[in-house]
Amino acid sequence: MTSETTSSTDALPRIVPQRGMPEQVRIYEVGPRDGLQAEAVRVPTAVKAEFVRRLVEAGLTTIEVTSFVSPRWIPQLDDAHEVLTAVGPLDGIRLPVLVPNERGLERALAAGAREIAVFASATESFAKNNLARDMAGVLAMFEPVVRRARAAGLPVRGYVSMCFGDPWEGDVEPRKVASVARGLLDMGCTSLSLGDTIGTGTPGHVLELLDTVRGAGIPLERTALHFHDTYGQALANVHAALTAGVTEFDSSAGGIGGCPYARSATGNLATEDLVWMLRGLGIHTGVDLNALAATSRWMAHHLGRPSPSRVVTALA
Ligand code: MG
Repeated sequence: MTSETTSSTDALPRIVPQRGMPEQVRIYEVGPRDGLQAEAVRVPTAVKAEFVRRLVEAGLTTIEVTSFVSPRWIPQLDDAHEVLTAVGPLDGIRLPVLVPNERGLERALAAGAREIAVFASATESFAKNNLARDMAGVLAMFEPVVRRARAAGLPVRGYVSMCFGDPWEGDVEPRKVASVARGLLDMGCTSLSLGDTIGTGTPGHVLELLDTVRGAGIPLERTALHFHDTYGQALANVHAALTAGVTEFDSSAGGIGGCPYARSATGNLATEDLVWMLRGLGIHTGVDLNALAATSRWMAHHLGRPSPSRVVTALA
């Protein structure tokens, strides 16, 4: 050890921009919803609200706060009303919530939601196994939800699950993804998030999917990507998508939340890992990496397991 050893908390990547990349990326933070719903530990309401506040302080401006699904399905988020009313509304901060059906929309509106998300599937198997309907039935279920939310002036994000691989069907054809995505936009969704739910996608596959989606007339400015790091491909996939012009990515602070359909416990791309790469590329996100990592360490303590994020671990 020499006296020149610097504190690891001051470590940040050297900034070297790459030609053809966007100047700015929006991070759609999913930790409080997609993260916590898949964790075994049920976090107290006050801790969830504090989590969202700390994410805002770290510079995140779009945070999916909770889900208005039936508490019988996801008991971890049975306090959706309390959490949303505790944190919102916040000026300049988008706090979308997941809504599964019309009942969920009513509850979300009663709690003051100003933006919602619905979730469809690119495969019949996932729709049947996770939503208990066929794909057409899923779209039919969301049609009145989207219509009513839009009539109330709310933006609506449409998630598409299983866009790359499916645990029951294997490989997923890009044109099937484009078809569901088109259906969600036609229904009135204002933006999309295409998810690699089991994490099997690779960069060439990402570019093929984005080509197909764009070819179907879907604007990439309204299309986010949601990668899982199950097979270690999430950042490579983000990099490929950046070269294709995608400027919004979903990630979870500290990488919390596994995927119940994948074999590994590794789930969401960690926001810190994403921010590290974007920062190195000179791409602005507005996120304070050290403040965010400190928040993830604090949340790891509440969840009783270390953060799976490489950057959170390295900065500790
Ligand atoms: Mg996820």
